[in-house]
Amino acid sequence: MAIRWPAWFKSVGFRLAVVSAVCFYSYFWGTLSITHRPVLAIPFSAIEQIWRQGRMVDFATLPAGVLDRQGVLSVADMDSVEVEAARTQTTPGTVFRGELWSWPSSTSWGLAAPVLRRYEHVVRFIPGDGQPQLTPTEFAVVRPLYVSGVSAAHSASGEQNAIYPRLLASGDGTTTLIHWGWLLHDLCILALLVAVGVSYYVGSIAPWREKRRLERAVIALGAFRCPSCGYSIAGLAQGNGQLCPECGRELVP
Ligand SMILES: [Zn+2]
Repeated sequence: MAIRWPAWFKSVGFRLAVVSAVCFYSYFWGTLSITHRPVLAIPFSAIEQIWRQGRMVDFATLPAGVLDRQGVLSVADMDSVEVEAARTQTTPGTVFRGELWSWPSSTSWGLAAPVLRRYEHVVRFIPGDGQPQLTPTEFAVVRPLYVSGVSAAHSASGEQNAIYPRLLASGDGTTTLIHWGWLLHDLCILALLVAVGVSYYVGSIAPWREKRRLERAVIALGAFRCPSCGYSIAGLAQGNGQLCPECGRELVP
């Protein structure tokens, strides 16, 4: 394989620059979210434990209050006046049953970008003071109300955040999605690293190995040994066409 790389591409400075750029760039991806773990940023995790201490938190829980008006359940924003009134029991006949919440976080993996993203989409309920748990029938009533509230709140928040309400609407569970655009991105990064690695081998390691092999062969022939297997060739002719009686290789460097 004879690859002709441009001189600047084969320079150690350029290779170091590319590898450093990719590593620091991956580190940037890792710090972007506490729940993204880029493979290329793993070396940095020991320095700053980026897996746990990213600078940006994904987003907070999405809480909502469950109100019970003489057996009729409804869901309202936790900051709303009606929830506040029910919690302080100033509205006769309306009981604050508790809080529904979900944690729209996702854990992602990739060489650098979040290629595989795992979403846990579960709606949970915490009963209010002295209130019983929701029965399955009651939960089945309030869950869709909660999900439509979350969807409305996130309708304008971009594709990444909009995925979560859609998964919530599909029911409780865990879903792993592949982000094809980011997969393409990571493949480009991989191709770049492979190109740098191959050029390093072709430009530096392979010539160095060939030089060493030649030096050893010359020394072996000088000591009347086959350069290939070390068999004694004392008294035998050397050169093109002369074969080692032991391994059959030509007795040339
Ligand atoms: Zn031999």
